[in-house]
Amino acid sequence: MKTNLTGLHHITAISSDVKRNMQFYTQVLGLRFVKKSVNQDDTGTYHLYYGNYTGAPGTALTFFPWAGLPRGRPGTGQSYATAFSVPVDSLAFWGERLSRLKITTFPVETRFADQVLPFSDHDGLRLELVATTEGDPRPPTPSAEIPAEHAIRGFHSSTLALQSVDPTVAVLTGPMGYRLVAESGHRARYTVADGGPSTYVDLLTDPALPRGLNGAGTIHHVAFRTPDDAAQVTARQVLLQDSLQVSPVIDRAYFKSIYYREPGGVLFEIATDQPGFAIDEPVETLGTKLSLPPHLESHRAEIEAALPRIN
Ligand code: ZN
Repeated sequence: MKTNLTGLHHITAISSDVKRNMQFYTQVLGLRFVKKSVNQDDTGTYHLYYGNYTGAPGTALTFFPWAGLPRGRPGTGQSYATAFSVPVDSLAFWGERLSRLKITTFPVETRFADQVLPFSDHDGLRLELVATTEGDPRPPTPSAEIPAEHAIRGFHSSTLALQSVDPTVAVLTGPMGYRLVAESGHRARYTVADGGPSTYVDLLTDPALPRGLNGAGTIHHVAFRTPDDAAQVTARQVLLQDSLQVSPVIDRAYFKSIYYREPGGVLFEIATDQPGFAIDEPVETLGTKLSLPPHLESHRAEIEAALPRIN
């Protein structure tokens, strides 16, 4: 039996102020607000999803916003940075745009064959734009302010910061089916399936990095794609055979999920491609109403009353 992972599915982070979060991801980055839902384990908290037009797997960065939550500290034991894919000649556009909008940016770096622009959101969440030399056939996310030729295509990669790399490599290249594609300095890049942007996981073992602390501006978990329910059940069995502790399958309405913590400390999820965000509202109006999974629908009035108004 083998897992059948095809890349990154979604990445979930923690933020503080919800309005600043929405403004940053929709207006500054030009992502589409594809789903307004609640944290199913804490229905007094939103779960907000930003992605491409349909919120396709491999594009959605999602947030649990908690007003007033103190900042965490990005570091080891966490997904340290989340990279989006942009066309190869787009960094000048983005550098100018982010500095004009007073967003914190860091010097452009060369990483393998690509130029990378690191920046952070208002909570200090570490983000990157990778001007990919590989090409990325995914459609641009339509946006009023960002021309299609520079628009974000979806995720490029997730960088995990680790104190010790070997146990994580064993899980990634063992039951998860990933393979090493490149190494440079403290960074090693792994891919799965057909490779390319949205599949990459980079492992960073920089001794200068502090231990990560959870809080606003840090990643909660990284989810990987699997095509369907049967492939997910198989993946679960493979992970269990590898002595990982894996949750039962949980129905998240837009996908089904299993969770496990990799040995370096990062919470992983495997999520199905189906049914997707159009299951409970039309694609044209995604994100405009509060979407609740069926088992919470009978509590809609109380849930809505307890949530802050955001749009
Ligand atoms: Zn998730």
